[in-house]
Amino acid sequence: MCGIVGFTSRSASAVGPLVSGLRRLEYRGYDSAGVALECDEGIKVFKQTGKVAELDALLKKELPEEERGKFTVGIAHTRWATHGLPTTVNAHPHIADGGSLALVHNGIVENYAALRSGLEKHGVKFVSQTDTEVLAHLVATFDKGDLLAATCEALKRVEGTYGIALISAKHPGEMIVARKGSPLVIGVGEKDIVVASDVSAIVAYTRQVIYLKDGDVARITPDGVDIHSLDFSPVSREVQEVDWDIGAIEKGGYEHFMLKEIFEQPDALRNTIRGRLDAGEGTAILSGLNLRPRDLAAVRRLVIIGCGTSLHAGMVGKYLFETLADIPASAEQAAEFRYCNPIVGPDDWVIALSQSGETADTLAAVRESNRKGALVSGLCNVVGSTIAREAGRGVYLHAGPEISVASTKAFTAQVTALLMTALKLGRTRRLSLEEGVKLVAEIERIPDLISEVLKKSDDIAKIAEKYAKADDMFFIGRGILYPAALEGALKIKEVAYVHAEGYQAAELKHGPIALLGEETPVVALLSDIAGKEKTLGNVQECRARRAPVIGIVTEGDAAAAAAVNDAITLPRTSAPIAPIVTAVALQLLAYHVARLRGCEIDQPRNLAKSVTVE
Ligand code: GLU
Repeated sequence: MCGIVGFTSRSASAVGPLVSGLRRLEYRGYDSAGVALECDEGIKVFKQTGKVAELDALLKKELPEEERGKFTVGIAHTRWATHGLPTTVNAHPHIADGGSLALVHNGIVENYAALRSGLEKHGVKFVSQTDTEVLAHLVATFDKGDLLAATCEALKRVEGTYGIALISAKHPGEMIVARKGSPLVIGVGEKDIVVASDVSAIVAYTRQVIYLKDGDVARITPDGVDIHSLDFSPVSREVQEVDWDIGAIEKGGYEHFMLKEIFEQPDALRNTIRGRLDAGEGTAILSGLNLRPRDLAAVRRLVIIGCGTSLHAGMVGKYLFETLADIPASAEQAAEFRYCNPIVGPDDWVIALSQSGETADTLAAVRESNRKGALVSGLCNVVGSTIAREAGRGVYLHAGPEISVASTKAFTAQVTALLMTALKLGRTRRLSLEEGVKLVAEIERIPDLISEVLKKSDDIAKIAEKYAKADDMFFIGRGILYPAALEGALKIKEVAYVHAEGYQAAELKHGPIALLGEETPVVALLSDIAGKEKTLGNVQECRARRAPVIGIVTEGDAAAAAAVNDAITLPRTSAPIAPIVTAVALQLLAYHVARLRGCEIDQPRNLAKSVTVE
């Protein structure tokens, strides 16, 4: 889901503020952008696929500086396509009523197909494939002279989520905004009013803001803000002062969001864990699962589904469920699962992992699993997201917004949430009270352990300097550390554009070892847990082929440190926690390599934050 900006002023041009507002929302990753501007002659719309810079270039070409002053009201949007390709036609704003009404939308109109065919029966012509376009036509249909009332009427018929802003040439000087499930904030300046889906696009103008609540619809004019509920009764919302400065909202002093989010992990995981552990009973309280002990006892198999980083977290989950709860578990790539006749039924528990909760492949897998009668739960970060809602039960990560496209804190939060789930399930089966109590204490230590790893950032940066020029890398791990190897390889691919492969440590000699040499560093995951000795053997095999080895080793493990060319030492942990601390070190390694290679860390090429297409 991407961004919205709106601007209205008595005298100032809306063009500059709208473009700079969009720039502040750029971090979110998007595929196209557009603006609609109002002046006495009507509404003008400019849309462009690609970056805001390209929209800006279009505006510079089409809208000379001397003409800009006449546009004092406007709305703007960055789109992350959910319905319809990222084309100029599908980019927002969408227009209706012969071009006199323009609307931007974040979210998903779930019943858009029914609404669209109803409108088409009345002769409305659609030009895009988006769900959003129905909103524009619906509001125009209900406009009998009061734009706010028309918006309320339209939104009453909408199922799904929305943050919207709209303007109409029939109501000059007015802007209507509304929200349900997608954020919208109104910044009330001395002379101008700015609207945005994210406060970071507002604070350059004012710190006085109104946070709209779900179900609010507001009419905004240069004179003020008039807020109603969907049933058209007035509501009042207080004006609050934002106490952050722009720096804090953006990167909080960090060079990149990725680094900020890596360093946020101790706090993020505290939030994931908070209130969910019962030290006395040695178990986890996960009320969002809404499962009785008899439901848990009836589970015969776990199927964890996800994509990318979430898939890797799910693969760690497989080990956790099998070792802690003695339940067969598998982790499946969501799209493969969905399209390969998934054999799941009432005895199976399907856990769907998605940071955004909007990942299309995972959502399709959730729907298929529900259809087949499996017990389905979600494990998402974004509250109220589609997967969270459709799964109907689940565990929220509470890790806070993840802005960097490459996921970091969501991975460690997912693994921690899976660990708590495995603990809960384990306690209905093989885990004793004593073992449960011990595990609770270990989970409680995770945030502090991560803080210890973060202290190594400078050491890791030094090691990164030695290997930053490598074009190929291997990551090897065994058992529960194998998915961590995959995640380490994925991270460095995503942000540093290094070709990297994650392998089971034992598998290297079955083929990939042919590629090893001086130019191919191997990152070996050597936490002092079961399997380490065998991986040390694999390290020797790599070094015998002259491949330099970076070892992720446990503090005090002199033998492991001596076996590698460069060692990153991590605090001692038990096996269930090892992938978490290891992943943090690998995130830092990927980050520092990417920085040294001059990559665009927060917005890697070709990637977007929430992958809402199958
Ligand atoms: N569902 C809308 C679309 O695909 C809005 C996407 C967004 O939030 O950017 O056009």
